[in-house]
Amino acid sequence: MTHRVAITGSDVAFDCAETESLLDAALRAGIELPYSCRKGVCGNCAGRVESGEVAGLGGGVTRNEACLPDQVLLCMCAPRSDIGMAPASWRRVDPAARKRFQAKVFRNQLAAPDVSVLQLRLPAGQRAKFQAGQYLQIRLDDGTTRRYSMANAPHESDALTLHIRHVPGGAFSQRVPVLQQGDPLDVELPFGAVTLDSATARPIVFVAGGTGFAPVKSIIDDMAKRRIVRPITLIWGARREDGIYLRPAVERWQRQWPDFRFIAALSEDTQQQQQQQMAGTFLGRADEALAAQCPALAGHEVYACGSPAMVQAVRDVAVRHCGLDAADFHADVFVDGPAVPR
Ligand SMILES: Cc1cc2nc3c(=O)[nH]c(=O)nc-3n(C[C@H](O)[C@H](O)[C@H](O)COP(=O)(O)OP(=O)(O)OC[C@H]3O[C@@H](n4cnc5c(N)ncnc54)[C@H](O)[C@@H]3O)c2cc1C
Repeated sequence: MTHRVAITGSDVAFDCAETESLLDAALRAGIELPYSCRKGVCGNCAGRVESGEVAGLGGGVTRNEACLPDQVLLCMCAPRSDIGMAPASWRRVDPAARKRFQAKVFRNQLAAPDVSVLQLRLPAGQRAKFQAGQYLQIRLDDGTTRRYSMANAPHESDALTLHIRHVPGGAFSQRVPVLQQGDPLDVELPFGAVTLDSATARPIVFVAGGTGFAPVKSIIDDMAKRRIVRPITLIWGARREDGIYLRPAVERWQRQWPDFRFIAALSEDTQQQQQQQMAGTFLGRADEALAAQCPALAGHEVYACGSPAMVQAVRDVAVRHCGLDAADFHADVFVDGPAVPR
């Protein structure tokens, strides 16, 4: 059964089936709301349902700790009647701007023991339009999809660079190290709305966990290309030094911007390495590095990218302990597990 969903205070309305989330129906209708994971974890899509009745998609939860008392997760709510909803923000986009390509592996390099940097080429003459911070979907033979953030900046639009961690037991990521030049991959893009707000010049703190560095790299390379100057702190969390797999990029940014601060947060470094630690290394988790190195975050923006646990811990430190306004926290959460075809 289908219901009508309206954005209150606007003339925007669209249909949504009882088996579909309010977020997906909005995206299908060309209305973009804030979102990232579409799995009820990141909390980016938190908004109000002001009239009508909703139920958790597939019997799931409709709220998480990122929701204010009057908010629900629009990616997890399906309608049971006509709905009036008030998302945190919305804008019209062209649904046809999302494209599906048969991309080919161009280069495949091991950047760390468990991270591949995969470069894909698009068919001749094709360009992939996306914004820094967005992600693509790879469709596997069984119809499920995996999402990966673009690590290249949008102006390098004839290729797509992905940083893929090899997840133990992972159906796709375990296959990545053996992908050869010319192997085809079915990709669709762009997805995601965690992008840089270029209307502000406030100091910005990026916190990346592992391959959460990928969207951060795209955003910072894009800032460099567009000559955006803002004080930047980058905290990159990994277990050991070899998890900081792209130091040359960081060193380039340090040369480019005098106000660029880098902290490698290493959670499994040993006492011995502690004595030899390099400048800019913090021994502990990324959230602990944030608390120690950025104790006063009022007036900043924070972008956190990585696992659900890491992003949750960083949000907690930033908002509860360092005085960040919750609206200035932006999260890109790498939730594992296959997504259903959409
Ligand atoms: C928005 C977004 C962006 C992402 N960007 C990146 C990126 O840039 N780089 C990167 O390395 N990763 C990224 N990821 C994670 C990526 O999409 C994959 O989830 C990851 O690579 C694992 O895929 P896989 O096929 O190897 O593992 P899977 O076969 O999907 O399994 C992964 C893990 O999930 C468990 N699992 C399997 N099915 C389910 C299920 N139904 N529910 C819960 N758990 C399940 C498995 O036991 C295993 O531990 C991103 C995820 C999201 C949502």
